[in-house]
Amino acid sequence: MTCKNCKTNPVITLTNNNVQLCKDCFIKYFEKKIAKTIEKYTLIEKNDKIALACSGGKDSFTLLYLLNKFANSKKTINLFVIAIDEGIHGYRELEILKDYCKENKLQLHIYSYKEEFGDSLDEILKKNPIRSCSICGVLRRFLLNSKARELGANKLATGHNLDDEAQSILMNTFKGNIKRSAILGPITGILKDERFVRRIKPLYFMLEKEVKTYAFLKNFPVKFSECPYSNDAYRGEIRDFLNDLENKHLGTKHAIINSFLDILPILREKYKNETINSCSICSEPCSGSICNVCKLLEKVNLKRKPIQSKIL
Ligand code: SF4
Ligand code: ZN
Repeated sequence: MTCKNCKTNPVITLTNNNVQLCKDCFIKYFEKKIAKTIEKYTLIEKNDKIALACSGGKDSFTLLYLLNKFANSKKTINLFVIAIDEGIHGYRELEILKDYCKENKLQLHIYSYKEEFGDSLDEILKKNPIRSCSICGVLRRFLLNSKARELGANKLATGHNLDDEAQSILMNTFKGNIKRSAILGPITGILKDERFVRRIKPLYFMLEKEVKTYAFLKNFPVKFSECPYSNDAYRGEIRDFLNDLENKHLGTKHAIINSFLDILPILREKYKNETINSCSICSEPCSGSICNVCKLLEKVNLKRKPIQSKIL
């Protein structure tokens, strides 16, 4: 088999249409598809100030490379980078990201759990018998939103790919929590509250294997290793289940996303009037009376630095 366009050796088979592409054609295909997603869903507009969440992994590094290219060509958007240092010894290394941002004249803001909450993730887990991903995910989401807001961003770009989104849709469905899916999609915005920075996901239609291939072909200096604490067992089961289905029935993951996007407007309409309260401890938005961050911090006996609430 050869590349569909230029008859040279292929590097990948696209699973949605079984087409094979060589390195150059795949890179063009990948970049074009992301540009189309940005355009179709109006992810980026003139004068946007975009905070890009980057961990230094393959997804967010790919996003950083492409959005930087996009920002340099448009000149009317302001892009900067936020990285969260959870404090995971030997895993979260941000030196490469620092060098990349310096070389590309991108502002990089690094926030650590240690500085913001008093303990690193390693220290929190040493002192508390608690599931790592449940606390880590809540703290990271909180920091990304509040710091992007403090820094004046009107959008927060994340490196979620098609596999991540398909897993989240299935997890919410199987757990009977379809309401949570109303905040998914290539761009959020159902919860109209100025304390939430809108999230955009330009890699939304790219499969994990495509992002991995692109990062590899572009020789990005990223690590492909897994976090030593990765213990979200349910997501792991769903990931394996989906990969297995995709192997047996090509196109399953795309079908989930396409069906979901068909019903997303109905979901958003249904939940658009959900009340958003203010946490009685920290005043951040939440659905109950105390937000998940405050609940978790109390459980592990930590406090956070006060938020400088800059509302746009
Ligand atoms: Fe945090 Fe879990 Fe991700 Fe590791 S895998 S960085 S513990 S959320
Ligand atoms: Zn709170």
